Amino acid sequence: MSSCCSTSDTDAQPCPKCGQVGPIVGTAPVRPHRPGAVDGDWQHCANEPCEVIFHLGADTVETDSVSTQVGLKATDKATPVCFCFAHTADALGEDLAANNGVSEIKASIKAAVANSECACEHLNPSGNCCLADVHRTLKSIAQPTPVS
Ligand SMILES: [Zn+2]
Repeated sequence: MSSCCSTSDTDAQPCPKCGQVGPIVGTAPVRPHRPGAVDGDWQHCANEPCEVIFHLGADTVETDSVSTQVGLKATDKATPVCFCFAHTADALGEDLAANNGVSEIKASIKAAVANSECACEHLNPSGNCCLADVHRTLKSIAQPTPVS
């Protein structure tokens, strides 16, 4: 069985637009925004005014082409519960409804976390793993808090 994709021996490159060197996040967090993204050491540009969200060499994914907010960028788009894989609360609700109350999204996030494919510490503005938020959101969808 292959282990996780280690990127520790790869040098981070500066953002092609602003020159800031951001963290390597890999391909998984790029795929929800660009399904055909090539495998590689994609980096996240965390420089807020810069329009580049992910870059790999000269290839970039910019704020106008993402499907949700990523980190502190593209805040005009939907804010996801899971920033790594762009799952919104609406998507989690549809997931629960489609799978008899068992979230496949949560299972997929857990598997990705186990494979070290998530990059919550870089992509979630809170800097925390999103699984707790996903769990809380699923619970509130499944069992709406009664209005007292
Ligand atoms: Zn940049």
